[in-house]
Amino acid sequence: MRITAAVVHGTDRSFSLEEVDIEEPRAHEVLVRIVATGMCHTDLVVRDGGRSSGLPAVLGHEGAGVVEHVGDGVTNVQPGDHVVLTFASCGRCSNCLRGKGSYCLDLMAHNFTGARPDGTSPLSQDGNVICGVFFSQSSFATYALATEGNVVKVPTDLPLELLGPLGCGIQTGAGAVINALQPSPGSSLAIFGAGSIGMSALLAAKIVGCTTIIAVDINNDRLRLAIELGATHTINSKRVDPVEAIRQATCSMGVNYSLEATGIPHVFRQAVDCLAVLGTCGVVGVAPVGAEVSLDIFSVLLGRFVRGIVQGDSVPNLFIPALLKLYRQGRFPFDRLVSYYDFDEINKAAMDSEMGITIKPVLRMPV
Ligand SMILES: [Zn+2]
Ligand SMILES: [Zn+2]
Repeated sequence: MRITAAVVHGTDRSFSLEEVDIEEPRAHEVLVRIVATGMCHTDLVVRDGGRSSGLPAVLGHEGAGVVEHVGDGVTNVQPGDHVVLTFASCGRCSNCLRGKGSYCLDLMAHNFTGARPDGTSPLSQDGNVICGVFFSQSSFATYALATEGNVVKVPTDLPLELLGPLGCGIQTGAGAVINALQPSPGSSLAIFGAGSIGMSALLAAKIVGCTTIIAVDINNDRLRLAIELGATHTINSKRVDPVEAIRQATCSMGVNYSLEATGIPHVFRQAVDCLAVLGTCGVVGVAPVGAEVSLDIFSVLLGRFVRGIVQGDSVPNLFIPALLKLYRQGRFPFDRLVSYYDFDEINKAAMDSEMGITIKPVLRMPV
C-alpha cells in the first residue's frame, strides 16, 4: 500500500514528506491508520544522528489511530478499534516477565534499529528499504505497522488526536512520579525541565498529594503555565541558583524527590544537590551519548538515591487507561501541553519544539 511518510535522509536536520510503500501486517502485527502523532525529543535526537536507527528512516513514536488490518494471531485488537501506540518490548525476557517492559533486555533492538528483530523493514521506496520500525511504529506517516504488544486500546469517545503522546512523553513524566518515585502525600518534589515530561510529572505530583511542587526552567512562559497547572513554586535557573532557592523553599531541608528531565549534566548535579537526606532523584532526561556527571560522594552517602527511569516504569496497557480516567475527571489535563500542527508542518513543529515555543507538538494527518 502507498502511504505518505516523513522521511529522514540524514543529510540535513529535516523531515521530507514522501510517498512510501508499506507491507500488509505479518503475524502478530497491526496496521494502524494514523490520526495524529506526537513529536518527542527522542525523534529529534535520532533525526540528528544521535542514536542509531539506520537511514533513510521514518521516525515518530507517539502514534494514535484506528486499526485497519490485523495479522494472523492478533486477538487483543480488531479493525475499527482506536489505539495508542507505545514502546515495544520482547515480552519474554526476565524483566518483561516481571512487568518491567521498559527495561526489556532487548529494548534497543525493538525500538531503535529501524528493523524488525529478523532484520526486515515494512517500508520501502522504489524497491529500496526505508527503516520503518522505529519504536515498532514509525508513526510520522499516514499508516504505521505496530505489533500486538505495543498497541493500547482506548475508548472511542475520547479525542483520538490528543492521545498519542500518552504512549511516550506523557506516560514517562506521569509514571516517573506515580509508578517510580511514589511520593507520599505531603512530600516535596522539584522538577528540573518544564517540558512535556516535566509538566506531566507536575500533574502527577498534584494527583498523589505532593504539597510542595517546584518547577525549575529557564523559560518564563513555561514557569507561568507550571503555576497554572499546580506548581507551588517556580525557579528561573538562569536568574538564581536553583539549589539555593530550593533550600530556601524547604526550610533548608531540601526536597524529598527531584526529577531530572533535561539531560544536561550540570542540571543533573543540581537535581541531586537539592535533595533532602534520604531523598531520591529520578533521571528521565535523555543526554548525548557518553555524557557524564560528577556528584559529591559524601552527599550521596547520606542516604540519597539516584535512579534512572525509562517510560515512567509504565505497563502501558494498565497505565494509559488509568491516566485517561484521571483526564476524564479533569485531574490530569495533559491537553494543556499540546499544540497541533498539520502533518506538512512537521519541520515547523520540530523547530518550535526546539525553541521552547511548543511543549508537546502533535501532528494531525490529513483526513
Ligand atoms: Zn523483554
Ligand atoms: Zn519519546
